[in-house]
Amino acid sequence: MAELVAAAVPELLRPEQAAQHYSEAVRTAVAACAEDTAGQRCYICLEAVHPDTNEGLVRGCACRGGAGFAHVSCLARQAQVAVERDAQIGWPRWMTCRQCEQKYHGVVACALGWACWKTYVGRPETDEIRGCAMNVLGRGLHEAEHDEDALSVQEALLFMLRRLGVPEETILATQSNLATTYSSLGRKEEASQMYREVYHGTLGLLGEEHAHTLLTANNYANCLFELRRFEEAKELLRKVTPVARRVLGGRDRLTLKMRWHYARALYQDPDATLYDLREAVATLEDIEPIARRVFGGTHPMTTGIEGDLRIVRTALRARAMQTTTLPPSWIASNALVTGETEEQLMARLRREAKEINAAVAREAAEAKARLRNELPGYDEPG
Ligand SMILES: [Zn+2]
Ligand SMILES: [Zn+2]
Repeated sequence: MAELVAAAVPELLRPEQAAQHYSEAVRTAVAACAEDTAGQRCYICLEAVHPDTNEGLVRGCACRGGAGFAHVSCLARQAQVAVERDAQIGWPRWMTCRQCEQKYHGVVACALGWACWKTYVGRPETDEIRGCAMNVLGRGLHEAEHDEDALSVQEALLFMLRRLGVPEETILATQSNLATTYSSLGRKEEASQMYREVYHGTLGLLGEEHAHTLLTANNYANCLFELRRFEEAKELLRKVTPVARRVLGGRDRLTLKMRWHYARALYQDPDATLYDLREAVATLEDIEPIARRVFGGTHPMTTGIEGDLRIVRTALRARAMQTTTLPPSWIASNALVTGETEEQLMARLRREAKEINAAVAREAAEAKARLRNELPGYDEPG
């Protein structure tokens, strides 16, 4: 196991460095939010500039309008107090906004990750909260795209949890986060192996109908898709999607995602047949109105499905042009209409088909670049 070799506590987690990492992360977050927070006040202490720390405001959740502006130190204090009151109920405050109930993202999540680590770094290894704090920090670093740092924190966490002999479910959730970080770092083979391990582990532990099993199956399928291992991705999705539809329902986000990924695997496979392309169109046409009703027309899933539908319809047309043998009478009459010779007409049609194919490839590449937003989310172990 590679992660067992990386036993030493990484430099990054040295207790004496926590305060400095925290200050740097807060400065970065405040600077990144400056435009959004100009002229606003903290909803916790009601000041614009924090009276003790002099820090500016941040906002990194789903709050809109005048809501959700705060100081990182105020958010951290709030989370700390909530955990002191009840660790179980209070813990999500380190990752989730109290006002909009959505997870913090980007550099704000990173600043809160360091705040959390700084708060609990003195706890002994056997204290569960220390592991939870490492998880919040790992997620925050990943959110801020510091994936190398996230990796070292998560590997250290996994090593520690294994040594402590925590329940298998906690190990699996931690491995799942590690796989997500591998994936972000482009280490897709390692990611797929770990997702596979997590999926089979969860399946054995919780059974095929448990929401975690379905989630890990989708993560694994998504990774196979990114590796262009389309056959395996399709096979897995064919197996788990009917379970998701039955257990979670057809309007559920995960069910829709599985069907969406299945359609993508169908049409992006270079060996896709005309039948595959038609099935992809049918699937996308089926889920597009559901996504629109459930999430709204501007949601990334709705617009993503629409984008794929455009691509695959075009691909279907291009394929038809390439494979259809045009009857000689059609060629002759069309050449008369356009004033071209029959050879010129056929050359033009072939050129157009080639251009359409190039456009399809371009759009598919763009769609792939947008996929980062659709990476699996972080699990909370324990
Ligand atoms: Zn404040
Ligand atoms: Zn919020």
